[in-house]
Amino acid sequence: MKARNLFNRDEMLKMNIQTLKERGVSVEDIAEVAYQQQAKWSKDISMKACIDSVEKILSLRDTFHLLQLGAEIDRLTEENLIREPLREILNSDLGMFGIDELFGLELAGLYGTIGKTNFGDIDVNKPLIVGRLNSDGKAEKTMCHTFLDDIVGAIAAAASTRVAQIVNENEALREPGYRHIQFKFDE
Ligand code: MG
Repeated sequence: MKARNLFNRDEMLKMNIQTLKERGVSVEDIAEVAYQQQAKWSKDISMKACIDSVEKILSLRDTFHLLQLGAEIDRLTEENLIREPLREILNSDLGMFGIDELFGLELAGLYGTIGKTNFGDIDVNKPLIVGRLNSDGKAEKTMCHTFLDDIVGAIAAAASTRVAQIVNENEALREPGYRHIQFKFDE
């Protein structure tokens, strides 16, 4: 059967979860980063909202392409299938490379400017799974997480931003003037 190049959201979500699992990352690992980032700003958020948001982002086509390509570059690097000069740049996770951060910015940018600034925070502070991926990739010569740490950080940033948007929307709907505006609109 001819290989397909187009997948539906459910298929993309499942393949993304499988690829993350093969690379040692779970949906919960990413949701914890989103929760930790957003809990600083609002006490109304739940772990479930973070998990739902991570799954939503993992079902998007742009996320699918960025995650699958980034994880595959890391895997090929580990198996020494990338040629020099790129192999050593990727293997050493060269700080000035920047293309892995470009993937992260593009992904987090699906959730606007706040998505990007939330990614910047995670990229600099490397909380939880992001820090573990970064240090394992640097310490173990057999492991490469050059792209994955940024992709995982960006999914967490996008999920955290999505949760903030839900919290803000709910707050706006509770605004006493809301019904008044609606009433006036109906007049
Ligand atoms: Mg990186």
